[in-house]
Amino acid sequence: MQSLASDYLSHLVFDASQLATIQRLGEARGRQDLFVAQIPEQLELLRQTAVVESSESSNRIEGVVAAAGRVEAIVLKSATPRDRSEQEIAGYRDALHGTEHVAMVLGDVADGEPALVRMHSECLTGDALHSLRCDCGFQRDAALKAIADAGRGVLVYLRQEGRGIGLLNKLRAYALQDAGADTVEANEQLGFAADLRDYGVGAQILVDLGVKRLRLLTNNPRKVVALQGFGMEVVERIPLHAGENRYNETYLATKRAKLGHFED
Ligand SMILES: [Zn+2]
Repeated sequence: MQSLASDYLSHLVFDASQLATIQRLGEARGRQDLFVAQIPEQLELLRQTAVVESSESSNRIEGVVAAAGRVEAIVLKSATPRDRSEQEIAGYRDALHGTEHVAMVLGDVADGEPALVRMHSECLTGDALHSLRCDCGFQRDAALKAIADAGRGVLVYLRQEGRGIGLLNKLRAYALQDAGADTVEANEQLGFAADLRDYGVGAQILVDLGVKRLRLLTNNPRKVVALQGFGMEVVERIPLHAGENRYNETYLATKRAKLGHFED
């Protein structure tokens, strides 16, 4: 079963208004960076300003704040030559869950100009083992190529396997899909929401790298909304279609039909 934290996170993705509240409070205090500030300070600020009214909303805001304030900027950069470009890899740790993430950075992305960005969630089977059941590995490669062609950009690699349900649960979901469920139904049969991914940490990684304006490589409308909710300015959404094949055509059709993914 999903944890309370996951409830918060899945809620968070669509709850831009709460984050906007936090940001407004931060701006009122001259703290535009509040959403990457410490959790206790944010909670105290919310209590002081009586934004928290019922216990339900208290939980919700606490969830938002916990998720929004959990960045731990451990940045370990090292050059990682890849193909024609020399990217840097920066490492981060999620202070709430201990999860480790990386960003592949090419060029000067902190100059204020919109940067080409791919927010990629880990898929061990697709990314590393070249499974054809999904399009993740192909999208990852296409995004890195697009960034290399542009000469500038970031691929944030978030360790949230299987749309956030974890590797073994993803394999369980595959078994349910082999028995006839689609990708959304399989997650739901396992007791999860269709998509538990959280982009708050990814947004904070971008902030740490100096990126606030982005040209986002994605087919996923909720990723755009989520990043906007975290204060990112998405100046353009760039479709990313790669690796469609007969093994993943039903999966991709389900993402379009049930999760609203764009077909363009
Ligand atoms: Zn995948």
